Amino acid sequence: MKAAEVERQADEVLSAYEVRTAPVDVLAIANAEGIELAEGDYAEPFCGRIEYHRDVGTFVLFHPRLETAKNPGRARFSIAHELGHYFLEHHRALLMSGQSHNSTSNFICDDVLEREADEFAAALLIPSFALRQRLARRRFMTLREILALAQEWQSSATSAAIRYARFTSEACGVVVSQDGIVQFYSASDETKAMGFGFLRKGTPVPSRSKTFEAGKPGAANSILEGTGGTENWFVDRQFHRDLWEEAFPLGGTGMVLTLLALKTATD
Ligand SMILES: [Zn+2]
Repeated sequence: MKAAEVERQADEVLSAYEVRTAPVDVLAIANAEGIELAEGDYAEPFCGRIEYHRDVGTFVLFHPRLETAKNPGRARFSIAHELGHYFLEHHRALLMSGQSHNSTSNFICDDVLEREADEFAAALLIPSFALRQRLARRRFMTLREILALAQEWQSSATSAAIRYARFTSEACGVVVSQDGIVQFYSASDETKAMGFGFLRKGTPVPSRSKTFEAGKPGAANSILEGTGGTENWFVDRQFHRDLWEEAFPLGGTGMVLTLLALKTATD
């Protein structure tokens, strides 16, 4: 399923429930759909599960209790992810045929269905209209503004950044790294067109980058920024661009969220 199609389905849900302001009430949507909610204080790494109970014809969504969740943004994302398994038709068909699963809900996974549900979750929690409104005023956002957007919509910083990269016409890329190793990369269309659309999972973070600094144990909980070049990140390319790097440590986990803004010929 194409990302644009997942996006369209999330848009449809948002418009059906007339969501126009932040944040999106995922539990209200589940309730209105007649999904039975089973909240609990589940131990990590459990983040969610949805089942179809054929005998009663009901979907049951198990999720961490929002009020007591260590990371409420992540809990909301998990619920939205499970809603993806419900709203996306081929997921729902699988559920109704008796297959359910525990979701490892984040962007660092390769499974196609999980990825689609993650994309749905991100599109549900940070609606396309919110991004379009922002980018109509100005074409780019800083990482600070992206973090503020995540906060406003009560979503994760990572999914806000990935949503931004999808919608902006600027040349940028989003990197999620863990302990100095690239785990995930997502580029804007402009960046793809420039030849920097792919960064392999497992690539070491450049040692002279802000991302490297932000990933060190004890790094301050703030955005580090500075100049750099694509030659440090994309070592095998024949051509290179200057870039502006912004890196933010994700709360003492060793994970860092990075926004790379590439200089284009017209900058
Ligand atoms: Zn899942």
